[in-house]
Amino acid sequence: MTSTTVAELAAELNKPTHTLLEQLSAAGVPKTEGTDRVTESDKQMLLGHLKASHGTVSGERKKITLVKKSTTEIKQADATGRARTIQVEVRKKRTFVKRDDEVATPEAPAEPVEPAAPLIDAAELARREEEARHQAELLRRQEEELAQKRQEREAEEARQAEQARQAAEAVEAAARAQKEAAAATPALDAPGSAVARIAEQAEAHSAALQRESAARVLADKKAEVKKADDLRAQDLLDRRRKAEAEAANIRAMMAAPAKTMVAKKPEPVPDPKAIKGTLHKPAGTPGAKPAGTTAAAAGAGGKKEVKSENLSSTWKDDAAKKKEIKTRGDTSAGRSNWRGGPRSGGRRNDRDSRDNSASTFVAPTENKVIEVHVPETITVAELAHKMSLKSSEVIKQLMKLGQMVTINQPLDQDTAMIVVEELGHTAVIAALDDPEAFTEEEGTQQTAEALPRAPVVTVMGHVDHGKTSLLDYIRRAKVAAGEAGGITQHIGAYHVETPRGMVSFLDTPGHEAFTAMRARGAQATDIVILVCAADDGVMPQTKEAIKHAKAAGVPMVVALTKIDKPGINLERVRSELVAEEVVPEEFGGDVPFVGVSAKTGEGVDALLEQVLLQAEVLELKAPVDAMAKGLVIEARLDKGRGSVATVLVQSGTLKTGDVVLVGQTSGRVRAMLDENGKPIKSAGPSIPVEIQGLSEVPQAGDDFMVMIDERRAREIATYRAGKFRNTKLAKQQAAKLENMFTDISAGEVKVLPIIVKADVQGSQEALGASLLKLSTDEVKVQLVFSGVGGVSESDVNLAIASKAVIIGFNVRADVGARKLAEGNDVDLRYYNIIYDAVDELKAAMSGMLAPEKREEIIGSAEIRTVFVATKIGTIAGCMVTSGMVTRNAHFRLLRENVVVYTGEIDTLKRLKDDVRDVKEGFECGIKLKNYNDIKEGDQLEFFEIKEVARTL
Ligand code: GDP
Repeated sequence: MTSTTVAELAAELNKPTHTLLEQLSAAGVPKTEGTDRVTESDKQMLLGHLKASHGTVSGERKKITLVKKSTTEIKQADATGRARTIQVEVRKKRTFVKRDDEVATPEAPAEPVEPAAPLIDAAELARREEEARHQAELLRRQEEELAQKRQEREAEEARQAEQARQAAEAVEAAARAQKEAAAATPALDAPGSAVARIAEQAEAHSAALQRESAARVLADKKAEVKKADDLRAQDLLDRRRKAEAEAANIRAMMAAPAKTMVAKKPEPVPDPKAIKGTLHKPAGTPGAKPAGTTAAAAGAGGKKEVKSENLSSTWKDDAAKKKEIKTRGDTSAGRSNWRGGPRSGGRRNDRDSRDNSASTFVAPTENKVIEVHVPETITVAELAHKMSLKSSEVIKQLMKLGQMVTINQPLDQDTAMIVVEELGHTAVIAALDDPEAFTEEEGTQQTAEALPRAPVVTVMGHVDHGKTSLLDYIRRAKVAAGEAGGITQHIGAYHVETPRGMVSFLDTPGHEAFTAMRARGAQATDIVILVCAADDGVMPQTKEAIKHAKAAGVPMVVALTKIDKPGINLERVRSELVAEEVVPEEFGGDVPFVGVSAKTGEGVDALLEQVLLQAEVLELKAPVDAMAKGLVIEARLDKGRGSVATVLVQSGTLKTGDVVLVGQTSGRVRAMLDENGKPIKSAGPSIPVEIQGLSEVPQAGDDFMVMIDERRAREIATYRAGKFRNTKLAKQQAAKLENMFTDISAGEVKVLPIIVKADVQGSQEALGASLLKLSTDEVKVQLVFSGVGGVSESDVNLAIASKAVIIGFNVRADVGARKLAEGNDVDLRYYNIIYDAVDELKAAMSGMLAPEKREEIIGSAEIRTVFVATKIGTIAGCMVTSGMVTRNAHFRLLRENVVVYTGEIDTLKRLKDDVRDVKEGFECGIKLKNYNDIKEGDQLEFFEIKEVARTL
């Protein structure tokens, strides 16, 4: 054996040499020098000594400390709706001390370092208790099964043993018989009998051996099975005990902590909403007011609150659930004493569970009422996010309110607000897309003083009555006068200075532009100049213009043009206009009449004067020293300059470099040109300017406003773009005759606005008159406009603006009008018998006009692929398998021949183009209205609903 020196050994053991020397001498191996040799026996002695002294040398060796660390992750959405992952680390330290009586006692029980235990309320506890009990029950059943199996197996074994025994006996009997036979004939076989006996013996021996080994194997197997059974039984027993302990724990907890399940005392808020939010607390809890006092304190809000209480009987549960989820990530409650969680792991003895029963469960101390901003439309998922709830909770709530919705379904504001309130939060109408809120916040608009501003004028009238000539004359005479180079371009509007003041003209004559803008809710015009040629008199479009101006409630100034022409009869024209209820001032009316000539310029100044007089009456005012707001008059995409928009500043002052939010787009004003194409730096109220620098082309009629923050402007623009889509989805039906009665009975409709277009004057008048006669005390039929000719876009725009129903008598709508009507859900009805129209309207007014509807299947298609386009939604790539699909068709979505959804087609495209229909054997892209949950392989069945008017 090798021997080393003390120094070498010390180096090997990583100890100083002198320590080793001390230990060696203590072990009875005296060595004095590092160079002394250490033999194997010396080493053994040292080892023995150290072993012996172990435990006495260091008393703390008796104690073993185990440290256990477990990390878990909690996923929780924060207030902004983004998912956050919270790391939770739980450390447990367990120390075992070896006592004399050899009993290990846990010294320090589990000690949660982090406040990890979830805060759980009664409902959750009850659920968990139920779970634990269920678990215990399950385990008990398994134990029973096991016991039964064991019995069966034992019976089987007994049976097998019996069989084996019988077989052995049979063998033995056979052997015996053989032996006897052999013995009976010894003589025959004398010489071989010895051999036979030996063979017999050998046989018997081997048989015995076999039997023995079989028995041994059997016994081994039995033992094994029994062991496994025992283990399993033990395990089951353990688990059952654990589950039962848990159940007991939870029960104890539920019994104990009623006093701690308290929401914080709410501030006494007079706002009924706030009171509503903190209403439903466990009765009699300290801090929460008794219901009666709350109601009394609510004052005016008391009524609403009671209503809400009646509405939802399960409010408490919901509030409790919400509270649980919401406060899960809330660490403000600090450490929880609760240790009986189902996941707390480890076995717990009875003492432990008793401890737990005595421990207090610290419930969430705050019932947080979130202020939820509800925009015009919001999807279920978004709403749930805002309240930090699961979408299913919101869906459940909606179900209670009688609405079946899907997760991606947009809800209208009212519904969403009800849901929010029902779930115990405060709903606020979102002002996120309302830029006014921001500017008001910034306080500029309010402080600026409102100063008089110039009127904005639109010229309307029949074709060829001289609108353009008049506008051009004014422009030439007033604007371009003295300008070098003259007029360079048209920007859609211009302003003129007169001795009496300034007038701005919208340079798009005709009422199309006027009504188009009005249809979008924009009112740019202050005064209408109604052009009527003195040599022609009142014509159909003159009448239209009058109706439009009246519908918009804009004052008129009549310009009787072409007065330079010979042989004109002004009196005749005047009386024709009076017949249209345009009464001149000299006849006691309020409309100034001015004769003008665009040729000679006669009367133009007088016309402008009259316009300014009207403006004075209107007392038009706007702040000047403020951030600009206004309207888009025209917009186009210029090849060189990008998006170019002519805007009319309505208030404030627009400057170059301003950040503007225009409809669904935004940008910074890079350059501004006036009506003569000259660059300008700023534009005040009623001044039209052309601006460059917008990111996209806005629409005529869009409003614009200056904002301070470019990023915010961009955000709002994007939001609006998205909102537009959603609003379109959630949009309620516009004016429809069928809905008329519902609206009437709901007290919404007092007037029934109608637009009549007919083939000839006679029928137009007859129809108009008979419809007007239908007016009753409750509902008044209002003939917004009636005229001769096909239904045009301007009619539809008028219908949109005035929420009217269009009746076409022996006429049809042109393509543009039809598209516009479809896109805006305008009710467009065709008739060829006056009485039909009258009857239907009558029926609509009395609520009898639900037309009979009949479905007619026109084709089917298979969804081959599904695309998701961010701005549009989900699009089904289809192959039309039979018949055809039309743009207006309804569809049924079949998944494995089960109807999943029935709805309408939103868009139908072939390649990139919108098409009216697609025939069998062709591929197409279909976007379904309000429905996105489609899958490859789904079938679409298309049908059209034929409306069969109900006869009376
Ligand atoms: P708009 O269709 O209403 O814009 O009408 P225009 O301005 O195009 O005018 C139609 C026709 O009437 C043109 O041939 C003009 O020359 C003529 N016209 C317009 N105003 C006058 C006017 O004051 N006097 C005369 N004699 N002719 C006029």
